[in-house]
Amino acid sequence: MALEKARSLARLNIFTSLASEISQSLTPIAIKDNIATKLLPTTCSSYALSNYISPFQATVIDLLEDEFTVVGKTNMDEFGMGASTTFSHYGPTLNPMYPNERRICGGSSGGSAAAVAAGIVPVALGTDTGGSVRQPASYTGILGFKPTYGRISRWGVVAYAQSLDTVGILGKDVDIIEKVFTKLDKHDPKDPTSLGVELRSRFDSKHGNNKKLRIGVPEEYVLGFDPKVSKAWQQCLEALSQDHEIVPVSVPLIKKTLAMYFTLAPAEASSNLGRYDGIRYGTRSDSDKDYYAKTRSEGFGEEVKRRIILGNYNLSSDSYKNHFLKAKLLRRALKQQFDEVFNQPNYVTGSDPNANGVDFLLTPTTVGQAPTIEDYDAQSSTHGYTQDVLTIPASLAGIPAISFPWEVEGAKIGLQLMGQCGDDYNLLRITQETM
Ligand code: GLN
Repeated sequence: MALEKARSLARLNIFTSLASEISQSLTPIAIKDNIATKLLPTTCSSYALSNYISPFQATVIDLLEDEFTVVGKTNMDEFGMGASTTFSHYGPTLNPMYPNERRICGGSSGGSAAAVAAGIVPVALGTDTGGSVRQPASYTGILGFKPTYGRISRWGVVAYAQSLDTVGILGKDVDIIEKVFTKLDKHDPKDPTSLGVELRSRFDSKHGNNKKLRIGVPEEYVLGFDPKVSKAWQQCLEALSQDHEIVPVSVPLIKKTLAMYFTLAPAEASSNLGRYDGIRYGTRSDSDKDYYAKTRSEGFGEEVKRRIILGNYNLSSDSYKNHFLKAKLLRRALKQQFDEVFNQPNYVTGSDPNANGVDFLLTPTTVGQAPTIEDYDAQSSTHGYTQDVLTIPASLAGIPAISFPWEVEGAKIGLQLMGQCGDDYNLLRITQETM
């Protein structure tokens, strides 16, 4: 059924490869094409890896295998760099929420979001470095969950920016997301950034039974939103205020997070992408001269090349001190500011509980709704960099965050709940109650 539906919706360009058959007794799942699978290629939607089949598979695939069957690998922005799923060697994925229009579905996990939104699979895996699960979930009217950094193994997940990369889950309801998360929420000795067993035992402490929660609204998030987005946020806050207390809060460094992210992420990316030289992986230029430079020039798309140049610049001697190190320090300070806002302690940073803090934060996920491909392409190349302004703060802080749809005047608008590190199951519970 899932395979038939995927084939019938081929015009949406959701998959980079499809399984030839799937097990009828297992739940179908779609996997972003930067997560290594043994049976299907792992291309990261890049020409550089277009012929690559991994000899091993990611830990997340091992963990899912007894209950889920992989339907196919999903389209994405090349190596996860983008917010549209238009920067792909395979062409753009269309948004199934608008069947008669050519709108983007967001990115970079756009194919995974579209596979769920189109009803091909009930659940899909994506990766979220700065918003790539939450932003496409918001644009396609589904849920997208980015857990606490380090809770799900990154082993076998192609690195974009390893200090931020987080496997995330996209689905139409909290139950299926929680089911997949429960399977993936395990320490992995193969991933050096996987959180330890002892630390995990302290996560998801009780907020108190049926307790009135404190929901924070960070003032830095008040931006020029599309009117429907403002309305959705307002309505959801009003609904929450029936049972909970709404508290204005401030995380001043949120204003600097785009700059921090675009200093740190491309720097990590430029170093991670150094390995695609045509010798060890992927396509190789057939030129007999300068083949290293030619392999890379032919292998990567424009956006990836921009990130490599930016990242190398950020790591060059002058910029390293003036920008890269500063961004790292600011990131640490940002984590502290988030720790001061939440009432739960952060077991990862070692912060204390704060009796005056809030349980969760509520904001929109995106400033507007999905634009058309034509409108998106007409924008400057850096326009996409600003699309994650609302999702990047949680990525830099490593805290769990989820985007869920809120209906306003027939439109599904993505709202984002964020919680303290390790508070993932509580975050899923409050999302369930809020929707
Ligand atoms: N859009 C952001 C970027 O281009 C985030 C991407 C992501 O989360 N993978 O880097």
